[in-house]
Amino acid sequence: PSDAASAPREQSINVARGEPLVVLQDVQKHFGPLHVLKDIDLTVHHGEVVVVIGPSGSGKSTLCRAINRLETIESGSITIDGKPLPEEGQELARLRADVGMVFQSFNLFAHKTILENVTLGPIKVRKQGKAAAEKRAMELLERVGVAHQASKYPAQLSGGQQQRVAIARSLAMEPKVMLFDEPTSALDPEMINEVLDVMTALAKEGMTMIVVTHEMGFARRAADRVVFMSDGQILEENVPEEFFTNPQTDRAKDFLGKIL
Ligand code: ADP
Ligand code: MG
Repeated sequence: PSDAASAPREQSINVARGEPLVVLQDVQKHFGPLHVLKDIDLTVHHGEVVVVIGPSGSGKSTLCRAINRLETIESGSITIDGKPLPEEGQELARLRADVGMVFQSFNLFAHKTILENVTLGPIKVRKQGKAAAEKRAMELLERVGVAHQASKYPAQLSGGQQQRVAIARSLAMEPKVMLFDEPTSALDPEMINEVLDVMTALAKEGMTMIVVTHEMGFARRAADRVVFMSDGQILEENVPEEFFTNPQTDRAKDFLGKIL
């Protein structure tokens, strides 16, 4: 049961793509004296894929964590589908379901099987029945190519397989948007593409995605827009072709020079 009925919707046509879904306005965040998010304005539309890049320490993870309310912000606003982020309780659990997040470390429950990892949230938070949750979980595991591993435990899978399970687990909650924070950084090189391929397929299917990554091939292939962060600020926002061939700021030029 999603909250679609209570969401304000002006139009009934073409709402799936193009309307603002995640909106950050003038967001500020400090860690002690460190100003880690400075005047962040960012709008991500339904169906849009935004790739966030920038040097280490520039605030990319904090940005993702703020959208999922794993971090609080000091001022400014963040809305999902027009609604401010909830403070706590049941509403917060629902937000975390609406905003799927995949981290660098896969964070699967070690003592639960792959299938249980994927069905837990839908049963607990979405109140799905066990049979329905398992049926859906198997479809998703099939889609990310690990259905044959359903009865195994996370440690029995490779890193790439575990990360694909983590994606399936998020998708099982029927999220409105998926956040990926360097999902391939902890993987051995030969496993990076199997995860990026799943993400590329998701992007093509119209999932709204915010992806922090250093994989520039993925950015070129899948991003509608690239956001370049440095030192807590968004310095550039552009379509990938423009950003990669014609960066505007010295810091973006410098960063691309190092990474490409
Ligand atoms: P990125 O993901 O771009 O590498 P982060 O958002 O992780 O950047 O970090 C931004 C800055 O905030 C860094 O200087 C980092 O050291 C600092 N930082 C991140 N999390 C915390 C925290 N919980 N407490 C104090 N400082 C933090
Ligand atoms: Mg980070």
